[in-house]
Amino acid sequence: MRPDPQFLSALPQLTFYRGRVALYAILKALGVGSGDEVVTQAFTCSAVPEAILATGATPVWADTEQGGVNASVGTFEPVISPQCRAIIVQHTFGIPTDMRDVMPLAEKHGLPVIEDCCHTLASGIGEELVGTWGIGSFTSYEWGKPVVCGLGGSAIVRDAELHAKVNHLWNTLPEPGSVRMMKVDLQYAAFKAMYKPRNYWRLKRAFRRLASSGLAEGNYAPVGEGSKGFAMRMTQPMCERLKGVLANLDSIIDHQVWAGQLYAGRIHSQNLTNVRVPAGSRVVYGRYPLIATNKQALLAAAMEAGIEVADWYTSPIQPLGPRDWPKVGYKSGSCPHAEALSQSLVSLPTNQKVSDSDIERTVELMNGF
Ligand SMILES: *Cc1c(COP(=O)(O)O)cnc(C)c1O
Repeated sequence: MRPDPQFLSALPQLTFYRGRVALYAILKALGVGSGDEVVTQAFTCSAVPEAILATGATPVWADTEQGGVNASVGTFEPVISPQCRAIIVQHTFGIPTDMRDVMPLAEKHGLPVIEDCCHTLASGIGEELVGTWGIGSFTSYEWGKPVVCGLGGSAIVRDAELHAKVNHLWNTLPEPGSVRMMKVDLQYAAFKAMYKPRNYWRLKRAFRRLASSGLAEGNYAPVGEGSKGFAMRMTQPMCERLKGVLANLDSIIDHQVWAGQLYAGRIHSQNLTNVRVPAGSRVVYGRYPLIATNKQALLAAAMEAGIEVADWYTSPIQPLGPRDWPKVGYKSGSCPHAEALSQSLVSLPTNQKVSDSDIERTVELMNGF
């Protein structure tokens, strides 16, 4: 389980200020704009519709499949209309969407597929790795992603003509200002120094406070406002940092595989269910997901014990509540599986700071639940 060499070598090329900007650039290069629709899955973060809306197009939401965290051919097909110009496919938590079914569907409708590889760079379906199926893919380097670099994201485009268009757009984009970058650098340094699973809840509270006071760059820009200022590329020093982190990618992936196998082999509770994984897929878990009968009680117990259990996504479009759903074109009740998942899904860390004893404590908490 290693990323595709071509995919890997493309990561430091088309680098943007955030993953959503990379997605925006691919959509723009495809000619997506006003009056168009882009199909994407519910149970995602607002970064995705933000990029779609910034092109002038409208997001159209496909539900997740029963028991899984990804959309499928059965949930994509009903929402494809004649206005649709592209399909975004998400490999949630590292579990690959079954591209063996999705690609023929896209071809039937003549639609390009963009893969959201923000949660994994190395999972695969059959013999093929994620990021090698669609016309393009994108990654993110913020907290909690496989490769953490502070902020940022890459567009990976295989088609030469499309690559040239994304590259042209990249050249026209400004870089973030120095105050903004200083904030990102400080945040990155603080994260590197302080993050470990035992500190998760404390750091989460601190980060929330800093983000709401504007001292830290939050994960979620207000939809509509964010799109104006977000079209920037990555700075050169950040690109260099990215290359340094990528040099360590093999051991990042090995650790994720190790942690995922321990969670899978050792957590057995009647109140927790594993997420469906497509047959014949190899999963490198960006986080290890579980469906809980009582999510709130589990989160409370984890917080009490100082054990990292994450709650996202808590909405079909994190972090938007029902009142904001119309802003991203989401109709309440239209994706019932994704809405139910947001009430029941929790996830465990697989990153390199997760130690044997963290896994021990986590397994104990989960099995006692
Ligand atoms: C993190 C993430 C993104 C993009 O994140 P940015 O904050 O724009 O870098 C997109 N999709 C998914 C599924 C993500 O988890």
